[in-house]
Amino acid sequence: MHVRTLTGGLTAALLVSLSLTAGQAVAAPAATADASLAARVFTYDASGSAEFRSAVDRGAAIWNESVDAVELRPATTGQRANIRVLADNGWPRALPTTLGNGTVYIGRQAVDQGYDTIRISAHELGHILGLPDRKPGPCSSLMSGSTAGTACTNPYPNAAEKAEVEDNFGGLLVERAPAGRPEMIVD
Ligand SMILES: [Zn+2]
Repeated sequence: MHVRTLTGGLTAALLVSLSLTAGQAVAAPAATADASLAARVFTYDASGSAEFRSAVDRGAAIWNESVDAVELRPATTGQRANIRVLADNGWPRALPTTLGNGTVYIGRQAVDQGYDTIRISAHELGHILGLPDRKPGPCSSLMSGSTAGTACTNPYPNAAEKAEVEDNFGGLLVERAPAGRPEMIVD
């Protein structure tokens, strides 16, 4: 894609995304006043998610419908995304780096056992948004993951999970970066 074909809005989103990717960069002075109102935009690249791509898009859309503080937006071609989503043959898992950043694996092992692909996608994205597993748990909980069983197809976070994400992204990201090395969250 030629840069000149980008709209102003996309260019702005790209700049925001890059400043977030660069890390715990302090928000630009001009944006500070709006920091509490505007959703934090994080881009995701689902180009490596193979047959799960539409499920990943749906999982991201569910988060966008569910919370105000953060928005997950598909990365444009060639754009370095905050979140990479990959398909593989293992168990679904997430490797959060900093809040809103990391890698998600949509593992075929769980899909082959009958677990719902949209619930898996929303669950793993939930880890990137700072949520831990809540196991065992009921189907009404997104972060109960596989413990809710294969019959559970609920891809929506419950009220507590939504509130936790709102809280995670409601303050300055710089204060929320986890210490130490990133750890893989399996399931
Ligand atoms: Zn999990």
